[in-house]
Amino acid sequence: MSVKVRIAPSPTGFLHVGTGQSALYNWLFARKNGGTFQLRIEDTDRERSTKEYEQSIFDALAWLGLTPDGEISRQSEHAGQYRSALEELLAEGKAFYCRHTQEELEAERKNQESKKEPPRHLCDHKNSREEESGIIRLAVKEDDRIIKFDDIIRGPIEFQASLLGDFSIAKSLDEALYNFAVVMDDADMRITHVIRGEDHISNTPKQILIYEALGLPIPHFAHLPLILASDRSKLSKRHGAVAVVDYKKDYLPEALSNFLGSIGYTFSKEILTKEEMISEFDLSKVHKSGAVFDVKKLNWINAQYIRRLSASEFKGLTGLKVSDEAVLLITERLEKLSDASEFSYLWSEPEYPKELLLWKTSSSEEVKQSLEKSLKFLEPLEWGREAMVAGLGHLSNEAGGKGPVFWPLRVALSGKDKSPDPIDIALAIGKEETIKRVQKAVNQLDEQD
Ligand code: GLU
Repeated sequence: MSVKVRIAPSPTGFLHVGTGQSALYNWLFARKNGGTFQLRIEDTDRERSTKEYEQSIFDALAWLGLTPDGEISRQSEHAGQYRSALEELLAEGKAFYCRHTQEELEAERKNQESKKEPPRHLCDHKNSREEESGIIRLAVKEDDRIIKFDDIIRGPIEFQASLLGDFSIAKSLDEALYNFAVVMDDADMRITHVIRGEDHISNTPKQILIYEALGLPIPHFAHLPLILASDRSKLSKRHGAVAVVDYKKDYLPEALSNFLGSIGYTFSKEILTKEEMISEFDLSKVHKSGAVFDVKKLNWINAQYIRRLSASEFKGLTGLKVSDEAVLLITERLEKLSDASEFSYLWSEPEYPKELLLWKTSSSEEVKQSLEKSLKFLEPLEWGREAMVAGLGHLSNEAGGKGPVFWPLRVALSGKDKSPDPIDIALAIGKEETIKRVQKAVNQLDEQD
């Protein structure tokens, strides 16, 4: 049987980076095994689900390069199937209507707590066929049965069936609850491997009982570690951006997927393409413990990908109109795309206070003279690195050091006290612009306060 996996996000928010990682591991597993990777939209929560979020999930997956195969399935379209399966279970006595009130359930829970028993509902309506409304529960036997499954990542996991109680599977015939809908859909889609976050481990024994009650084959399960913030708590909004879309403005999709892949799995190297990830991927080797979302590592990975961009790719992505030389100066230093604005002097004339031009204790007059010498040298120059290195080196020797020559040049060209080498900037912005900026610096120093 060929491998079929899925992710099943709810369109009640943007695609979370954790779901992005699940999508990646599902996708890698499918590609590795020649299988299919599908998307199911779990939109049963009608009040909170929106079409906008659904669209944003498609967009985020497409951006990450994890486009699902085949048709997209939507839970809201399966109500009829849920209803007939529920009717069947009710008719067979495998499920039943429970009419206990909230107060009664609360009293039962308190009683169990006082006896140090796990909270669960043990229903005495189970055998009554008279009720035809109320919540629908699965009739779980109160015996010593142990429900076992072999988690591909975590190994054997066991649960005592008697601790589950008669858990609810639907609010009514037309309102199936999560565990029931998931089982129905995974079976209907013929999902072979359910690969999802470890927060669903405790749902798995319930789902196994539902599969059994429905007489459906049980898929394999693999529970992925949760993504943690650097303080090792579950990554949430208070730690910053958690939606995949939030990363679009600063990160390359290849970098984010490389990062998400490598924080839960040890690949042979830090930077690798999806194809390389596919060839190395072994689901059973996904880490068991939480994957820390280390932004510094993400930035480092992103910087490696930014460096590999061609000038036209970079210009296409950022919309910047700069020379290819300027692109190189930026991409060699950039961790996040939006930080490219720090290099605005490469495409527009910088503004700066003229005091910044002053090297250490030099006077305004001395700095002006230094800039004028540079100008005299640059004006007739056949533009090129070697000649510039030699000429400005010569001027530095005369001045008794690099500082008096290079400092004011740097400020004149970049408007900053820290920047790439002024020679690199001059080559990137070109002769005309360089002369114009140095001249402007001289004029500024000339101006009376
Ligand atoms: N809608 C569930 C979630 O987003 C899906 C769980 C599952 O994969 O079974 O957590």
